[in-house]
Amino acid sequence: MPAGRGINTQQEKILIVDDSEMNRSILADMLAEDYEIVEMEDGVAAVSYLRGHVMELSLVLLDIVMPRLDGFGVLEAMQQNHWIDDVPVVIISAENGSNQVERAYALGATDFIPRPFDALIVRRRVVNTLLLYAKQKRLISMVEEQVYEKERHSDLMIDILSHVMEFRNGESGLHILHVRTLTDLLLSYLMEKTDRYHLTMADIALISTASALHDIGKMAIDEKILNKPGRLTDEEFAIMKTHSTVGADMLSNLPVGRDDPIVKVAYEITRWHHERWDGRGYPDGLQGDAIPISAQVVSLADVYDALTSERVYKPPFSHEEAVAMICRGECGAFNPLLIQCLTENAEQLRTALTRDASETIKRTKLRGISEETLRGEGGGVSKRTLRLLDRERMRNSFFASMSQTIQFEYTRSPSMVSLSTWGAQRFNLDEIIMNPFTDRRILELVGRDSLEEIIQKMAATTPEAPELRIDCPLHYDGMARWHRVILRSLWSDDEIPQIEGALGTVMDIHDTQMHLMELEHKADRDTLTGLLNRASARKRMEMRMGDSPESHYALAEIDIDDFKIINDVYGHMFGDQVLQQMARSITGSVRSSDICCRAGGEEFFIFLEYRTDIERTIDRIFKSLCFTYKGRRVTVSMGVALGEDTGLDFDAMYHAADSALYAAKRGGKCQYQFYKPDMAGLLEDRRDGSVHHSQHTH
Ligand code: GH3
Ligand code: MG
Ligand code: MG
Repeated sequence: MPAGRGINTQQEKILIVDDSEMNRSILADMLAEDYEIVEMEDGVAAVSYLRGHVMELSLVLLDIVMPRLDGFGVLEAMQQNHWIDDVPVVIISAENGSNQVERAYALGATDFIPRPFDALIVRRRVVNTLLLYAKQKRLISMVEEQVYEKERHSDLMIDILSHVMEFRNGESGLHILHVRTLTDLLLSYLMEKTDRYHLTMADIALISTASALHDIGKMAIDEKILNKPGRLTDEEFAIMKTHSTVGADMLSNLPVGRDDPIVKVAYEITRWHHERWDGRGYPDGLQGDAIPISAQVVSLADVYDALTSERVYKPPFSHEEAVAMICRGECGAFNPLLIQCLTENAEQLRTALTRDASETIKRTKLRGISEETLRGEGGGVSKRTLRLLDRERMRNSFFASMSQTIQFEYTRSPSMVSLSTWGAQRFNLDEIIMNPFTDRRILELVGRDSLEEIIQKMAATTPEAPELRIDCPLHYDGMARWHRVILRSLWSDDEIPQIEGALGTVMDIHDTQMHLMELEHKADRDTLTGLLNRASARKRMEMRMGDSPESHYALAEIDIDDFKIINDVYGHMFGDQVLQQMARSITGSVRSSDICCRAGGEEFFIFLEYRTDIERTIDRIFKSLCFTYKGRRVTVSMGVALGEDTGLDFDAMYHAADSALYAAKRGGKCQYQFYKPDMAGLLEDRRDGSVHHSQHTH
């Protein structure tokens, strides 16, 4: 902006067109204080100025009688060039006959000021005109803006919806866009060719927009059939075919907007886009122009795009091949007029489909939005990324269904929870639940308090610490069970990050604990008696000794006397019962902190911590292990090693206890022996049959 003109550019600019310099000067004097004035002395000069500057002008004051080109001529030129739409014209003339005035208004003048004029009136009318015009302009642009926004929103919604469908149908992301472009072009060519269908531009726009919904019924088709790579069986194909009627039913059962023209057109397209000209299509077998023209065009567009696109079951055909196949009737019969539109404009159609660069960008953006909406994830721009995301989604849902875990995803906008198939089954819920926080079923399942806690804690997470665990009872199948909800909130990349959703998994804690206990039981315990096995008992003993090495420990090794005879005389089953009774007697005779173990066969350990008088304790234990079971006397022999004699080492203690046990057996059984250093060689001596005694008999 040149220096010194700053103020002027803020001012509104008025063009005065009059052949009399005197008149121009008077008008300029009246207005120059508030407006920037440009003067032209005849119509020709005015038109040539307007050509370059019309957008800068706020108003034209126009004289009628002028040389070269009069005021009417200027108005006509302004009308032809549509300048009159952008700038108001006020006529100032002595020619104030009603004919003149009428003609001026008819040509688009805004006001007429008769000469000779009063300065005040001129100024007043100029101001009024300017204000009025400005207001109108604002109104118009407001309305335009609103209409545009509305249109943009519904376009966007349809795009998102159709993309959600494609996402599910596994079709190319461009299919719906292509069908739309083709529909639009084919209809335009058809309109040029014939008036038979009374098409207007508005109809064409409506039909091509509604074409996006043609496969909406596929939402209701099982994904397994929809995305089956191989040939469909007859039965599957029959199900697939229902998508046209199902889609039409969806539209005719809409709670609102059923009578909206776009819904009506969408209904026609959805229901009849698989009908064929010769009546061999489905679902109603309509023939010829009994099929609405909207559906006829969309079905041709659908077929053409299906042929030229790659699908799981076929490679893409070239444009020429596709057109040839359609003309040969390989995809069913079509309206010959439409076939003509296709063949005659083949080249334009092809370029229109390959061009679409800006559209594709818009598309990609939409795709991003709808995918984020679907999955609560960012990114997803290129086709490749999409494919990868799709694969990841497949993998996730596969593993989720296989692992039978309860997984869910929450997105904030739209507010929606999608559950893994297994999770939905487990809780008797739908896989997708809209507005989960106010959903009755979710409230019943989670409970209001827990739900509020979850919402609160989720809001309190941060992008750095997005994870969250909550244990809460879930109510289903008529009972409440404790579950752990593990949740990871997903944040936007905005400068101030927002929670966009969350991923989560739910574990049945009850189940998990039972499972863990079972596992532990299996690994660490003896199945017959439920006592610890040797390995796990040893581990625990070592841990105990390591934790508090200053304590006193005793290891008692117990062996049932003549157990072989018990087995032989009363049977193996009875023997088992004796072992179980022995286990009960052992655990009953010690504290719960002592470690009891079945070391194998009819041999047991007790590992105990003591303060004083271990002899008395051992004596008491020994006595309780000799009992009468079902009339049969059962006794044991026991060898005891003390940590202070052997050192706190499992092997050393075990070895010593074993020596003492051997001594007890050699001493005549039914007795216990404490290890003494002179027993050290006993076990080795066992092989040579030599005997040493040191016994306490019962
Ligand atoms: P001793 O007094 O010298 O200890 O003689 P014993 O008969 O008790 O000892 P021996 O080692 O000769 O025999 C142990 C028997 O215990 C042999 C085996 O069949 C039996 N046995 C080992 N495990 C089990 C079991 O789980 N159930 C039953 N019923 N018998 C078992
Ligand atoms: Mg279809
Ligand atoms: Mg024995």
